Amino acid sequence: MLGTRPPTIRDIANAIKEGGTEVALAGADRRADEASYQEVTCRSALNRVQGMPFNWTLNPYRGCTHGCHYCFARRYHSQFEMNSSDDFASKILVKTNLVDVLSRELDRPSWQRERVAFGTATDPYQPIEGHYKLTRRSLEALTRARTPVGLITKGPIVVRDTDVLLELSKAAGCTVYISVPSVDEASWRTLEPGVAPPIQRLRALRELVDAGIHAGVLMAPIVPGFTSSRRKVEDTIKAIADHGARFVGAAVMRLEDGTRDHFFTFIEQSFPAMLPALTRLYGRKEAPAAYRQEVQAMVRVLQERYGLSRRDDDANGTGARPADEPAPLPQQVGFAW
Ligand code: SF4
Repeated sequence: MLGTRPPTIRDIANAIKEGGTEVALAGADRRADEASYQEVTCRSALNRVQGMPFNWTLNPYRGCTHGCHYCFARRYHSQFEMNSSDDFASKILVKTNLVDVLSRELDRPSWQRERVAFGTATDPYQPIEGHYKLTRRSLEALTRARTPVGLITKGPIVVRDTDVLLELSKAAGCTVYISVPSVDEASWRTLEPGVAPPIQRLRALRELVDAGIHAGVLMAPIVPGFTSSRRKVEDTIKAIADHGARFVGAAVMRLEDGTRDHFFTFIEQSFPAMLPALTRLYGRKEAPAAYRQEVQAMVRVLQERYGLSRRDDDANGTGARPADEPAPLPQQVGFAW
């Protein structure tokens, strides 16, 4: 048993190792969506990372009830002795003391106000945020500390915090990346079982942009065989442009460790006919470079066509192609998946 005080994440991992999740998540609360939420305490809030375009990450939760089958963060759940399949989407750790710890870290004279990437290992606007408000309160602390933020989410509930995001934008700078890998409804239902429909995410984008927040879309990941056809990519980029995105980026799915195990089990069970082709394509953690380049070339052509910036730091602030510059037609050749 873990006692009455919220355990640390390490306590949880050790207890799960000894007794499994049913014994270890003693304080877990079962809510309407059938997930269990275990309150934990954290020793640090800001996490230093290397080899990324940013040096610091911040994640109020671990695990994500959105449960995307391709989620790269699935593999992190195994660090806590939980599995990267069902446990990742149904056993969520909530860092209840996050904001206090974060505020102390931001108050340190040594804090250089470097950009913080918010939501790299879980969605900060998954439904439970409506209850705990850890993301909102963290954004308030970051605003007070004049620390710039890049936040990624699939949760339309992000619009609840438009006021804070706007204040943060003025105080230090803020970019919101709405994740919409595809507007294809069948792929959404299949690959993102717990996420709001793509159109709701795009409406949230429109609301943020209209409020004056620098927001755009990441089509990440594009999943070969599901969302990679030119028609689906073009429909998605057109919808993103129609909803006022300031930029759009894209990346092809990557499969590592626990994510790979989960994804291939899911394919084997639900789409066995696709297994041979996907296995061939993913002999390594990434699809072959030629394939990724082909997808990126297609995306670039369509970004141009619909007047979207490829960069999230959009220098002229409009994201628009000059009106007199003709948009080239998509030239993709030989792209099948
Ligand atoms: S919303 Fe993001 S963090 Fe959550 S499961 Fe989907 S990809 Fe993973």
